[in-house]
Amino acid sequence: MGRRERDRIRAWAEGLVDEHGEAVARLIAVDPPLPAVAIEVVPDGPPGVTGGLTITLSERWFREHPDDVGCVVHELTHAYMRAPDYDASTIWLIEGLADHVRDVLGFDASWTFAHFEPGKATAGYQTTADLLAWLERRRPGAVSELSRRLADGSYREADFARVGGAPLPEVVAAYEADRAGGPTG
Ligand SMILES: [Zn+2]
Repeated sequence: MGRRERDRIRAWAEGLVDEHGEAVARLIAVDPPLPAVAIEVVPDGPPGVTGGLTITLSERWFREHPDDVGCVVHELTHAYMRAPDYDASTIWLIEGLADHVRDVLGFDASWTFAHFEPGKATAGYQTTADLLAWLERRRPGAVSELSRRLADGSYREADFARVGGAPLPEVVAAYEADRAGGPTG
């Protein structure tokens, strides 16, 4: 533990931002030039937290999970999206999109991967990521359009049908019926 270790983790994460930033931005429809993202590493706390364009990582987490690239990608998605509305109507989607980006870029892990759980499609994180992957297969471009709307503050659940093809409750019901029906792609 200590400053040298935190510096090492910060340099590693900065390298990940350089390496994956463009791919993250493309998935969420953020156009270049990409804003500079600052990485800070603190001794303990949640694995990653993003405020504005600053990502704060936990030294303890990354000592125990040195290959958790996906956490950095998840936080980078938040940083680039800079969604102005993080509230009850958007948190599930913002967190689901960040995990979806992580998964699409291949950084899901044994402890975090998209999966179906009845009733959890709008619970955020990986059960929402599973809904988003399902939706994107049926409505290509839906993920980037939802991201764009969250980023510019224009996302409204009442308008979900314009992106998702049907109102959110109907999309969720179709997803649940499909996924509960048995193994599917
Ligand atoms: Zn998050």
